[in-house]
Amino acid sequence: MDFSYTEDQTILLDGFKRFLESDIRPIADQYRDKFIPKDKARDIQKSLIPFGIVNGFLPENDGGLGLDQKSYGLLMHELARVSPDICITTQIFGITSKLIAASPEHLKQRYIGDVLTCEKFASVALSEPDGGSDLASCKLKARKEGNHFIINGEKTWNSSGGYSDFLFLLARCIDGDQDQGLGLFLVDREMGYETHDLEKTALNSQSTAQVFFTDVKVPESHMVVAPPNAMKSMMKTLAMSRPIVTMMALGIAQAALDEALSFAKDRKQFGGPIAGKQMIQDKLATMATKIEAGKLMALKALDAIDRNDSTQIPSAMAKWYGTELACEVVYDAVQIHGASGIIREYLVEYLHRAVRVFPFTEGTTEIQKLMIGRYLTGISAF
Ligand SMILES: Cc1cc2nc3c(=O)[nH]c(=O)nc-3n(C[C@H](O)[C@H](O)[C@H](O)COP(=O)(O)OP(=O)(O)OC[C@H]3O[C@@H](n4cnc5c(N)ncnc54)[C@H](O)[C@@H]3O)c2cc1C
Repeated sequence: MDFSYTEDQTILLDGFKRFLESDIRPIADQYRDKFIPKDKARDIQKSLIPFGIVNGFLPENDGGLGLDQKSYGLLMHELARVSPDICITTQIFGITSKLIAASPEHLKQRYIGDVLTCEKFASVALSEPDGGSDLASCKLKARKEGNHFIINGEKTWNSSGGYSDFLFLLARCIDGDQDQGLGLFLVDREMGYETHDLEKTALNSQSTAQVFFTDVKVPESHMVVAPPNAMKSMMKTLAMSRPIVTMMALGIAQAALDEALSFAKDRKQFGGPIAGKQMIQDKLATMATKIEAGKLMALKALDAIDRNDSTQIPSAMAKWYGTELACEVVYDAVQIHGASGIIREYLVEYLHRAVRVFPFTEGTTEIQKLMIGRYLTGISAF
């Protein structure tokens, strides 16, 4: 196993880190806890394209740069270190550009150009008010009428949903009185869905939305995955995305460690900087080690994707363990700051709120453990 970065990765990461400090950090600071309007969000995402981070991992014949997943994960880690919010919008561009690249040719031709240039925003609508972990219980219905489907129901927690020009929608397909199982549709905003942004503890610079469908008419030609295969297809998509989410959570943890280090060197108690106290060093060392352990697990899962190897279990392990480690690291960073750690002026106060999302988005810690348990025992405990 080779743990070193290639020369290309080193050059890419160095250039990206410089760009993040000069161009993205000022925006992240300006918009912390403030919504970034769509036009501004588009400009930000466009500025990231040259680094291959938005969709550069697509093959060159699909308009990408053929970037490997490990490099993509390392870039997302650095972006999350500077802005957890902007990173989520970027990650959704990543997932949706993969979905559009794998869509039927006529949809791919029509939509991929605008996604690759970040001209149009897409999102992924799986979760419902009554079905988050249990996606198979999907209630939103697509009823077949001639060569169209009529869609009724509600989705929620849709990242980039408020920005979206179109979305990938998981729906229960009904033909006559027959439930055909779950299909995946590409639904254009012009077809008539409505969105409402949700206010959260953190990550409010980007859109997380409820999505409402009332008699939305979608042509049959907009079916991306026919029923009953959409669940299986989305499980594969999520398995590829989970190590990226883990790298993002650990990017936030790294930002918290950076802050804690700087604070600990500066803050003096009992005649010297607290960085010189043994229990503070214990915390700092443990934090750095946890980040390293989580990254290694995520990079191993990304390596499996690069090698077309099975990734469900390495991804599940990396996701639950890495995101929980990230939360522990940020918790200790706040502790090192003392009371200052809960003051808005200090970045760790924000990071503490932001990192908390990661153990449940894209599959909770509990669900990842159930997947691993099923793999180990051959018994499903879901
Ligand atoms: C910021 C953010 C962005 C998101 N983006 C998207 C998006 O773009 N698209 C999308 O579709 N969704 C998105 N989600 C939704 C996310 O995927 C869900 O929150 C997640 O899958 C969990 O669903 P839930 O919140 O409904 O929790 P529930 O499924 O209701 O679970 C509640 C609790 O019960 C536990 N639990 C559930 N079942 C079991 C079981 N069998 N055994 C043991 N414990 C169990 C869970 O682990 C959890 O702790 C987003 C969420 C957030 C917060």
